[in-house]
Amino acid sequence: MSERLRVIVWNEFRHERDEESIREVYPQGIHAAIASGLQEMDPDLEVSVATLDEPEHGLSEERLERCDVLFWWGHMAHGEVADAVVDRVQKRVLEGMGLVALHSAHYAKIFKRLLGTTCSLTWREADERERLWVCNPGHPIARGIDRCIELEREEMYGEPFGIPAPDEQVFISWFEGGEVFRSGNCYYRGNGRIFYFRPGHEAYPTYFDPQIKRALANAARWAAPAGGRWVDECPNVTEPREPIGKSR
Ligand code: ZN
Repeated sequence: MSERLRVIVWNEFRHERDEESIREVYPQGIHAAIASGLQEMDPDLEVSVATLDEPEHGLSEERLERCDVLFWWGHMAHGEVADAVVDRVQKRVLEGMGLVALHSAHYAKIFKRLLGTTCSLTWREADERERLWVCNPGHPIARGIDRCIELEREEMYGEPFGIPAPDEQVFISWFEGGEVFRSGNCYYRGNGRIFYFRPGHEAYPTYFDPQIKRALANAARWAAPAGGRWVDECPNVTEPREPIGKSR
């Protein structure tokens, strides 16, 4: 493909505006940090951002039409995402657009819609160490990453994680308090690819970590449309390719 890969980083952008302590970590918003990390790691990406409070949440039909991979960060305002926008993102994923769901997006309407399960988990905020172990070093999303990504402080997410068995698993997390979690999970839905990536709690500078940036840039490439668009239609094919019943 000669055209540049078009990526949109979507963020609900509420914690950073409402809470001083979060704004100190992400002064421009989580979306800006993710977008600049992607651009730094892969200058050939064409990265733009969108947020909840824009008209149509910044995800008009026209914009999604031109989007190859959509990153999604949401937490406190999942319920404010319009169902019409969820419908159109789902349609684009089934046609071939990639979706990278981040951290608390495990409860995003679009993620639950596409996976079809509860997507619930256990959690704890206790400033604990996380190690994301690479369980599939040959996977494109693990390219250039060490045996594990180590984060000094993160929120804990633990099993059971109410997801369908992943089609491919890239990371599994260990936490200081003892829990483990399936933290890098790939799915295929229709013609689209979905990657769920666990770290990224708003109170920690996770999206500035070089290995996290590497994983996200790799995920953008992995989730990109791999073939032609698969349009949802169900035609009645009345004209057969060959005459039927001729030899009888
Ligand atoms: Zn969190």
